[in-house]
Amino acid sequence: MKFRSTRDRKEQTELSFVDAVFEGLAPDGGLYYPLENYDLRKILQNMPDSISFIELATELTQLLFHDEFTKSESRELCTAAFPFSPKIRELDKELLLLELFYGPSCAFKDFGASYLAEIMSRELEKQGRKIVILVATSGDTGSAVAQAFYKKKNIEVAILYPSQRVSRLQELQLCALKENIHAFEVRGSFDDCQRIAKEAFLDVEFSQSYSLSSANSINIGRLIPQTFYYFYAWKRLQNFHDWLFCTPSGNFGNLTAGLLAMCWGMPVQHFIAATNKNKIVPEYLETGVFHPRASLPSPANAMDVGNPSNFERMLQLFKHSVKAMSDVLYGAWADDEEIYRELRAVYEKTGIYICPHTAAGCSGARQVLQALRNSTRYRRAVVLATADPGKFLDTIEKATNSRPELPERLSKFLTIEKKSYKIEPDLSSLQSAFSAIL
Ligand SMILES: *Cc1c(COP(=O)(O)O)cnc(C)c1O
Repeated sequence: MKFRSTRDRKEQTELSFVDAVFEGLAPDGGLYYPLENYDLRKILQNMPDSISFIELATELTQLLFHDEFTKSESRELCTAAFPFSPKIRELDKELLLLELFYGPSCAFKDFGASYLAEIMSRELEKQGRKIVILVATSGDTGSAVAQAFYKKKNIEVAILYPSQRVSRLQELQLCALKENIHAFEVRGSFDDCQRIAKEAFLDVEFSQSYSLSSANSINIGRLIPQTFYYFYAWKRLQNFHDWLFCTPSGNFGNLTAGLLAMCWGMPVQHFIAATNKNKIVPEYLETGVFHPRASLPSPANAMDVGNPSNFERMLQLFKHSVKAMSDVLYGAWADDEEIYRELRAVYEKTGIYICPHTAAGCSGARQVLQALRNSTRYRRAVVLATADPGKFLDTIEKATNSRPELPERLSKFLTIEKKSYKIEPDLSSLQSAFSAIL
């Protein structure tokens, strides 16, 4: 499998998977996308329906990257990356949840971050090289990356987060691990953190002397393993012909992974793209006008994105045709009140807590199923449940007047001492901290 940048208009450069992973963002500013459309349909059909997630991930890694990994490397990679797996749970007559929050940070981002960390550390070991991963976070990405890279050999991780603008639990997830995970508490906003990270990568001397690398969500190494759980759900549910996937979306990485799975032979024809009130993509599907703008805060805050970064990959997959994209995607969105209402309704009906992002997905799925009832075969949806409800106690309490349990793998952080390096919101402050620590 080879990869090319979305901005390589002359179609000149092809990279291997491992090279695309270490590049992160292409030098022309584009995102890497896969060039081949393997048809995995036959192979999928021949797999046993009860196949385990690790087994499926191993087979897919081998099928996609047989030119880069041996069979036993694929197996070792997936066994190390996925000590957790997705679960399917029935919510009611029309909705199933594909629960993706059993990894260490309790959100689906663990799948991508963990696979990426394993690939990078294995490759660095082979090359006898060390790198420093630099990421800016507003909360969730940082904790998935910190957990995934924790104690990985040949890799130090520097995380920039805005002082006093992340929750206490989020901060502890970044600052309590220590070892090779270094948390930098920036006296500024998330935008300051992103700017400093960008300046650090652009400062060639600094960036080369530390071998800076990125692990942010546009990395193709995070997208690929997200295709695996779509295949897994499809395999488990293949006796349903009347269902749709529904993906709660912000930067649209998760949905793009579903589209890749479709390109590689997963026999589904449509997806629901669900957002909160940051409805840039549902609007595009309806009007054909892409109008990125400042994001609005919502209770589903990991989806508060006004300019979705993976939209560029989606355009590439659909050859820049609005019609082609809107033939496959049904858009739907939920405002704040609707998110609270759905969360409460699900809890009252089933006793199950769902996170606010999953609630936006459930609401979107219900809206689309209702609208399609008379014109299509679709009667049910599999909603991707993106995070453990325990991460959003205040929102859930506001909606239901009760509180879910905090999972043990998060509550353990509340008792560990925090360690961070306070820095001013400028590159030189980060540089002096680096020379003191790394
Ligand atoms: C990141 C995130 C999302 C949005 O996923 P995208 O791939 O950016 O569309 C949804 N829910 C949760 C809990 C997240 O952390």
